[in-house]
Amino acid sequence: MPEKTIFEKIRDKEIKSEIVFEDDVAIAFKDVNPQAPVHILVIPRQRLAGFPELKSADPTFVGAFIARVARVAGELGLEKDGYRIVFNSGKNGQQSVDYLHAHIIGGRQMGWPPG
Ligand code: AMP
Repeated sequence: MPEKTIFEKIRDKEIKSEIVFEDDVAIAFKDVNPQAPVHILVIPRQRLAGFPELKSADPTFVGAFIARVARVAGELGLEKDGYRIVFNSGKNGQQSVDYLHAHIIGGRQMGWPPG
């Protein structure tokens, strides 16, 4: 068995995290190194390595996962002022954990272009 990623350990409750949402599709928890007043990571319960794997994933699952990201952002109270969703992918995208995750970032004005 390959070594579990940190997010598999969070999902399996082997390491502590501050979970804000959890159901059969997705788990959302606070980023340990927040880049804004609100910074939440949303992962699917079923591990995919990253965004490219969505090409061949079940579209029903993909839709359900994205709906969870939107739901968590709404439950965090971010809809009025807006927020940013980020999927870092690969080296240039600075992905550091090989487990698909959406960053929900909010609570402050964002800049563009991103760094
Ligand atoms: P990325 O660079 O897109 O792969 O994002 C990985 C994110 O995971 C970073 O924002 C990290 O701060 C965050 N992270 C790493 N370890 C943990 C952890 N144990 N609990 C919560 N967030 C973490």
